[in-house]
Amino acid sequence: MKRQFPYATRLRQLPPYLFAEIDRLKQEAIKRGTDIIDLGVGDPDLPTPPHIVKRMAEAAADPRHHRYPSYEGLLEFREAVAEWYRNRFGVDLDPTTEVLTLIGSKEGIAHMPLAFIEPGDAVLIPDPGYPVYQAATAFAGGTPYALPLYPSNGFLPDLESIPVDVLRKARMLFLNYPNNPTAAGAPEAFLAQAVTFARRHRLILCHDAAYSEIAFDGFRPSSVLSVEGAKEVAIEYHSLSKTYNMTGWRIGFAVGNAHLLAGLGRIKTNVDSGVFQAIQLAGIEALKGPQDCVAAHCKVYQERRDVLVEGLTRLGWNVPRPRATFYVWIPVPPGQNSTELAKRLLSEAGIVMTPGIGFGPHGEGFIRAALTVPVDQIREAVERIGTMSL
Ligand SMILES: *Cc1c(COP(=O)(O)O)cnc(C)c1O
Repeated sequence: MKRQFPYATRLRQLPPYLFAEIDRLKQEAIKRGTDIIDLGVGDPDLPTPPHIVKRMAEAAADPRHHRYPSYEGLLEFREAVAEWYRNRFGVDLDPTTEVLTLIGSKEGIAHMPLAFIEPGDAVLIPDPGYPVYQAATAFAGGTPYALPLYPSNGFLPDLESIPVDVLRKARMLFLNYPNNPTAAGAPEAFLAQAVTFARRHRLILCHDAAYSEIAFDGFRPSSVLSVEGAKEVAIEYHSLSKTYNMTGWRIGFAVGNAHLLAGLGRIKTNVDSGVFQAIQLAGIEALKGPQDCVAAHCKVYQERRDVLVEGLTRLGWNVPRPRATFYVWIPVPPGQNSTELAKRLLSEAGIVMTPGIGFGPHGEGFIRAALTVPVDQIREAVERIGTMSL
């Protein structure tokens, strides 16, 4: 079958799935009966707040919602987004042209290059980074150009160091703050610099703000659209997945430049048929309902973060305390690489973490822990690591 139906080049050119080996070892450990502590997946363990589930259950019973939804999303959902955005960031959006409903932000990220990238165009993507930016670029025939993120620079790319021949071909710039996997936040000044840079070089700026609401110690992540002139070049992705523990529901949105959203929307009308309306109504409930659940989720992650960071610090590791996201980006102890460390953690301690190299070459030297298990399991993980000779 393989020879008769070869995968298309766009599929074959994707980088190898670097987590496959870890997945295999994890399945083997589970089969052996190992008590696994899984800090691998970035998927909230806490349930969706009950008032949101209740709204969904009511709406699901209503036959009016059983038909095709409108492509661009219920106007009421887009209005709820605009209202949430104004309250949260002080930015005004026209719900009819400056908000687009997405089947999760991943979907909107993946489709964006198809709308604007020609074969041979360069797309600037963070390294390490969420793998979708690279795959989406490749599917559109574009050439990904990696922007290395270094701890010495707060995991912000050095835009001024991009070579002119790359900039000449570049059409799009993906940024992601608060950042997965490094857990870094971006100061507003950096977002302003990115907007200026995008305007000067005529780049489409796509800012992935999926973790904008997961932050600690008084840190309030900014919107790129707060920057003056940003709407001329930028869109921003948001998701209900991480904010309201709704990863399984598949609802997110993009906001910003109307022309860019219209292009993305045109791809979507040819590929999907929108978000189930009952889910959109649950999304309205999430955005307009009580927000104390968001603070409560952050408090839970913060406690887990502190137990992990303080525990590893006691063991002699050098782990910075992140101000946002539910990840801890842990420098690998000297003399090891991230894949070897991930394998040893799994086989000697039953702990799953994600090797940094899986997010790009500049992720090497780090391993990512997701704070998506109860705090006693994190305590137990620290204890188990303490018994290893690392
Ligand atoms: C989780 C995540 C998303 C998207 O999540 P959706 O569930 O598709 O909304 C987007 N970007 C980053 C960096 C993420 O970690």
